Amino acid sequence: MDYCALATARSIPIAQQIATRFDELKLEHEIGDLKIKISGCINACGHHHVGHIGILGLDRAGVENYQITLGGDHTQDAAIGQRTGPGFSAEEIIPAIERLVYAYLQHRSSAEERFIDAFRRLGMAPFKEALYGAGKTQGRRHAA
Ligand code: SF4
Repeated sequence: MDYCALATARSIPIAQQIATRFDELKLEHEIGDLKIKISGCINACGHHHVGHIGILGLDRAGVENYQITLGGDHTQDAAIGQRTGPGFSAEEIIPAIERLVYAYLQHRSSAEERFIDAFRRLGMAPFKEALYGAGKTQGRRHAA
């Protein structure tokens, strides 16, 4: 929003908070190759749809809301990320990303299995459970 008049939700501060949080956790080397991409509106300049984890910031009735997609890939194995479900508020999105990463660390087959490869092997289910809980939705619901 500071740099683009088209933005409907902040992206740079969210990206900074994610970087700060994972620096605090000291997990960067443990996590390995993980592409998180974020866009501040549907124009998708941040190419969130091809992020291993994609974040799309939107405006929902005057409130910033962040939708998550998983499984995007910009390489020769190109794929568009799949939407996980309801979006998250600005306060909820950092803990949500953290839960996704911990789910990956819990479920990966070895330290060498990248996030994107674990997602392809496991599918959406364990990541949705990490985001929303088993059989219920913890994220703030908004109409699509
Ligand atoms: S995705 Fe592009 S148009 Fe939308 S807020 Fe970001 S830079 Fe601006």
